[in-house]
Amino acid sequence: MSDDPAFARLAGLFDVGLLKDARVLVAGCGSGGSQVALQLAMSGIRDFTLLDNDELEIENVIRHACGRRYLGQRKVGAVADLILDRNPAAAITELDVDLMSAPDLDDQIAASSVVVLATDNDQTRYLVNQKCVELETPFVTGRVFTRGIGGEVFAYNPGVTGCLACLEGVLERTTLRQGIREIDLVDEDVREKMYGMEIAEIKDSPGLNIDIAFITCFHTRLVLDTIARGLPERPKFLPPLEHNYFVWGNRPIPPFSKHFELQKIALKPQEGCLICGPASHE
Ligand SMILES: [Zn+2]
Repeated sequence: MSDDPAFARLAGLFDVGLLKDARVLVAGCGSGGSQVALQLAMSGIRDFTLLDNDELEIENVIRHACGRRYLGQRKVGAVADLILDRNPAAAITELDVDLMSAPDLDDQIAASSVVVLATDNDQTRYLVNQKCVELETPFVTGRVFTRGIGGEVFAYNPGVTGCLACLEGVLERTTLRQGIREIDLVDEDVREKMYGMEIAEIKDSPGLNIDIAFITCFHTRLVLDTIARGLPERPKFLPPLEHNYFVWGNRPIPPFSKHFELQKIALKPQEGCLICGPASHE
């Protein structure tokens, strides 16, 4: 049990003490990562490692969990302060480093119950995917699609689910994410046709905080599910999720046809996967 009265009202849902040994590595403390970290702290998670090497700027304030009082501060320190405000007993390690060159990334991942993968580029996402496969550490990643029209959340569970590379292979053969393109990957003509906007304008308008909040709630729920899977006793309030990849549509903008549209799959390991399949062990 937790002896902090702030968490007393969670007692009817689950024994917060069950979560006390869960260690969460938050890779990326931007708008998504900061909100997931805060939601986890409010769910009783207390052991965090925060990794990011950016500072909070004025443009971040409308979407980041941290507001104006943290302007100019490092994001890891600002998010740590928010977590401590909810739970002064939280243990937080701040890693103000670039993920691609973080010297002890392997050790950090190996020591974590789960990685919250909330970076905003594929290079870091695939590096963490590969390390988590090698080190058999679960991760959960989420991202918001351009202009906040929706987003996706994916949980990797070693030996049970496919990895991020498996997912991309499967998505190429389905219509789940059809029409969604990372804006940086399309050429100018396509972009013009799809959005009628210049890239700077698109990058500056990734949706409202509420658009992101739907995704961070799914993201947090999948992290809690992942932690619960590793516990000796699963909290009754958190029955296991049947699916590990969710695509959520906020608005009826292609590829979504209606408001609040949810698609989901249970992704199994893909035999031919070069990262997690049999070939990767040879
Ligand atoms: Zn794979």
